[in-house]
Amino acid sequence: MASRKFKTEVSDLLHLLVHSLYSNREIFLRELISNASDALDKLKYLSLSDDALKGYVFDPMIEISFTEEGERVLVIKDNGIGMNEEDLNTNLGTIASSGTKKFLESLTQEEKKDSNLIGQFGVGFYSAFMVSKEIEVISRKAGEDKAYKWVSKGESTYSIEESERETQGTTVILHLKEDGYEFANRWQIENIVKTYSDHIAYPIYLEYDQETYEGKKDESGNDIKKKEHKRDRINSSSALWRRPKSSITDEEYKSFYKNNYYDSSNPLIYMHTQAEGATEYTTLFYIPEKAPFDMYYADYKPGVKLYVKRVYITDDDKTLLPTYLRFVRGIIDSEDLPLNVSREILQENRIMAAIRNGSVKKLLSEFKKLSESNPELFDKFIKEYNRPLKEGIVSDYANKETLLDIIRFKSTEKKGFTSLKAYKERMKEGQKAIYYISGGSENSLRNSPLLSAYKDKGYEVLIMDDEIDDYVLGYLYEFDGTPLKSINKKDAIDDIKSEEDKKKEEEKKDIAKRIKDALGDKVKDVIVSSRLKDIPSAIVFDENDPSLGIQKYLSRLGGQDAYVKPILEINPDSSLVKKAEDEAIKEDTLRDIAIVLFDTALLQEEVMPKDLFEYSKAISRLID
Ligand code: ADP
Repeated sequence: MASRKFKTEVSDLLHLLVHSLYSNREIFLRELISNASDALDKLKYLSLSDDALKGYVFDPMIEISFTEEGERVLVIKDNGIGMNEEDLNTNLGTIASSGTKKFLESLTQEEKKDSNLIGQFGVGFYSAFMVSKEIEVISRKAGEDKAYKWVSKGESTYSIEESERETQGTTVILHLKEDGYEFANRWQIENIVKTYSDHIAYPIYLEYDQETYEGKKDESGNDIKKKEHKRDRINSSSALWRRPKSSITDEEYKSFYKNNYYDSSNPLIYMHTQAEGATEYTTLFYIPEKAPFDMYYADYKPGVKLYVKRVYITDDDKTLLPTYLRFVRGIIDSEDLPLNVSREILQENRIMAAIRNGSVKKLLSEFKKLSESNPELFDKFIKEYNRPLKEGIVSDYANKETLLDIIRFKSTEKKGFTSLKAYKERMKEGQKAIYYISGGSENSLRNSPLLSAYKDKGYEVLIMDDEIDDYVLGYLYEFDGTPLKSINKKDAIDDIKSEEDKKKEEEKKDIAKRIKDALGDKVKDVIVSSRLKDIPSAIVFDENDPSLGIQKYLSRLGGQDAYVKPILEINPDSSLVKKAEDEAIKEDTLRDIAIVLFDTALLQEEVMPKDLFEYSKAISRLID
């Protein structure tokens, strides 16, 4: 029997599991039961939809048995889809999900000790090595004749050979380590199953020997014990979401979440809807307290499972909810979809579309309600999910208005976050727009010299430091009739000018023109502005040009300069500009001043001037 090597990442994972995860070891059983349940789901689904397996009759079940003496063995058996040689090799020799790999790499030593993280990342099966010195998996795939046995001690190798199995399905045999003997025990197993796997839709049977006393004694006066072999069902399989809402306690909702979504914390919110009418369906949605680790991976795992009349259909369909709601966990159970619905059909299905729309509306309205009813909880919620929800502004036009009531921004006036609605309520008389500043870190934006003119007028400015903000703002020109304006763009300058400012700027037009000529094609324009109080110059952009944040992003992304020509804004009261006005200065000095005004303004925005040598020479000459 040839031995095969695990892929390195599996060896790493095994090492991690065996050496650093000591708490909550019992979850290995939950993982194996969940695999068995998935295998039953798959066969059931194929028996309804697949040509080759259509009509396949079987009585789905999971069986657990164990030996209580001598070498302790724990056996978990299912009659689900099963695995052939190739399946065993790929499923139990590698880690399929790239998200899991990335995640494992990113774990700190401390985090590696937290076994609650295990199930979330599909490392399920391997967790059984926490309690086993050797594992055998005997499996036969539905529709195939041959059975195979996979064996490993959980070090660096495993082997696969032909074997025997009467029917389709999988038998996992755990040869327990001494410190895992405790799991070969009836009460332990019942307890673990009640805690973690009670809802599993298929019956879980436990086989055990029970000693009974019949009240009779033997010759020496000892009780006569009789050993009886028993087989009991140990899970209740109640589909919580199908029970009437009024009969479900808060505790039940929460433990359902914790046991099914591998989270040790309570969910932030949950919502249970039993919709009747044109389309009949039930949804039970949960929002995790912490955003799922893979929320920003393209290959994130969707968190919503689809059932049709309580029959499981899929847990891997990214179209059940829009992408921006990918952090939602839960269940959709439809009364109207056909049981053999395929993925292709799902995407275009009218009933599914109605369920999806209803679900999105429900989720968003609950988020909005939460913002009004429980600001503290909402604050936690928005810290985790503001960003994906902002994506919705771009991608979900139909719900844009509601999303605008939910998303939050940082601001110069408020600690924490503010809504656009609250901003509007605080607007000063005569204030024409909702102002914001973007394109840098929170710290650099909050310290921007552009803010002072707005502060002086009592105008609040939103701090858009999230990378996605500039992108979203491209789709957001106004809120509730009030325009949104970037103070890094020209339009917002005019809004705060007094008549006096305008007069002064008119008088200084000449010098702006001369500086523009000196800079040549480096700038789109040079304008005089009284809003600059503490600095001689700044750069701004034309209304239709991309924001600086987008330009920076594109430059980083493409590895080349994606900057458009800026407008140079100059402060007529600064000594440098006054010096430039002096008719007596030479052309060369004027050019030096122009370069210093421009390049300094760029540096202020954390943009590197094109010719640093030219800049430093200009400075040296001016201060000499
Ligand atoms: P996950 O279940 O998260 O995919 P596991 O490591 O637990 O990760 O299992 C890896 C794969 O092995 C599963 O995706 C499944 O394809 C297969 N597998 C595991 N247990 C069984 C089983 N009892 N029956 C059929 N296939 C199984």
